[in-house]
Amino acid sequence: MKKVVLGIDIGGTNTVYGFVGQDGNIVHSDEIPTHGNKPVDNFINRLGEKLDSFLTDNSDFKLCGIGVGAPNANHFTGIIQDPPNLSWGDVDIVTLLHEKFNCDVSLTNDANAAALGERNYGIASDMNDFVVITLGTGLGSGIFTGGLLLYGTNSLAGEMGHLSIAKNGRACNCGLKGCLEMYVSAKGIKETVIEFQKVNPDDDFLSSLEPDFIDGKMIDCAIDDGIKSAISLYEFTADKLAYGIAQVATILSPEAFIIYGGYSQAGDRLLGPTRIALETYLMDNLKGKIKVLQSGLPTGQAGILGAVSLLWK
Ligand SMILES: [Zn+2]
Repeated sequence: MKKVVLGIDIGGTNTVYGFVGQDGNIVHSDEIPTHGNKPVDNFINRLGEKLDSFLTDNSDFKLCGIGVGAPNANHFTGIIQDPPNLSWGDVDIVTLLHEKFNCDVSLTNDANAAALGERNYGIASDMNDFVVITLGTGLGSGIFTGGLLLYGTNSLAGEMGHLSIAKNGRACNCGLKGCLEMYVSAKGIKETVIEFQKVNPDDDFLSSLEPDFIDGKMIDCAIDDGIKSAISLYEFTADKLAYGIAQVATILSPEAFIIYGGYSQAGDRLLGPTRIALETYLMDNLKGKIKVLQSGLPTGQAGILGAVSLLWK
């Protein structure tokens, strides 16, 4: 029997999962809608159907563990604590999965899972000090310092999305104002589009965007066509991202920030202006020393690989 670990990356909209061998080879991966507005049992049952169907079709594989990356996940307690984009409340996901599937289960924050994925299987394999920023529905971050993942006392370290970059800025679900996530994430970009539309009501590109249905690819295509309002949209976003990165760089002095997740697909369209703005925000002795890199792992895979590395490593 060949051993596999199931890696699950629970997102606000979709959950990516994959069956991974000890060498990091993803035997099979797919995604299911998270349906975070339904009870968590619904999610676990749908996941169970996918797991059963994989093991039926691949009878030479044996499941020997489940690694989970999820928003607001506490590595130490095994509980997902009232995740902001899901209406599940507090969920003891480790116990629920262990009881249903009868195997070892380990949990970490989704951004920490991405950082573990980059460290064990990705672009950060030779780095001891780096930060992975996940750009999805929200903004998450996972921090490696001195070769170790930073958890903090309550497993809450690395909440860079809630670093306030504007004292009286946009209100966030976390209770603060001006959080980085409210500018640099799908929901942040949505807010920016709404603001830009009010200021520029006659702009054809901005008028073509429906705030609730913005796809990064639409903005990428418009930038490639040289549309100024699209370029301004990412310059504004990049400026906020760079400001946040500069604050974290001052504390941690990492080798690199690695950008992962949906909006990281924009590549240099977003990261180019971020690198330029970053140099203006860094203190002199850090200028030119902080890399901003795009993840080399396909979207979804860093989270899965990081989650399984909780079991394999
Ligand atoms: Zn916040």
